Amino acid sequence: MRVLLVEDESRIAELVAATLARAGFTVDVLVTAQDAGHALAATPYDAAVLDLGLPDADGLQVLAELRRRGSSLPVLVLTARDAVEDRVAGLDAGGDDYLVKPFASVELVARLKALLRRPGAALGTRLQAGRLTLDTLERAAEVGGAPLRLARQELAVLEHLMRRLGRVVAKALLEEKLYGDGDELGSNAIPVHVHHLRRKLVQSDARCEIHTVRGVGYFLQETL
Ligand code: CA
Repeated sequence: MRVLLVEDESRIAELVAATLARAGFTVDVLVTAQDAGHALAATPYDAAVLDLGLPDADGLQVLAELRRRGSSLPVLVLTARDAVEDRVAGLDAGGDDYLVKPFASVELVARLKALLRRPGAALGTRLQAGRLTLDTLERAAEVGGAPLRLARQELAVLEHLMRRLGRVVAKALLEEKLYGDGDELGSNAIPVHVHHLRRKLVQSDARCEIHTVRGVGYFLQETL
């Protein structure tokens, strides 16, 4: 799950980004409304966390523009404690929930997950293929009830393949979803994760396997 965090207070941004990363999210952090607008138009995020007091514009403008384009992206709005009207305006402008500063970053993660669980949002919480199940919120996989140990990025690749079971997932999309703008990305990163996943699916008798579509990407298929 890739989340855009728009927050100009670096201390808060670092704290929230670290907490989100620990919870299994890939996080991009931006500071200005302008950058946020461009990123939201260009990148398939699963959710956004948006501070309203940004240096170049009101965060509400970012939100209004997003909704004007017809996006239903879940957006959690951050506001200062003394700005009660901001909250109302934030929800009016299409925010899905708001959090008043100061807040605990674990609370933010909980609220964000709640938004992602809503009907129509990105998260079905339990995916299944063959004997394999994956809980997208707990970030845990099981085969026939036994835990399957996966690295964070392996689990992320697997999640995307399971969400599109039997259909091709482009390698480029996986790269975009797994790696934030600041992350180092070797050209072999995704193939290496897929290689490890394949081995683990075979060893655990998961009854599903990853196929490569040369030059395009991968798909997951159930086996008998
Ligand atoms: Ca601010």
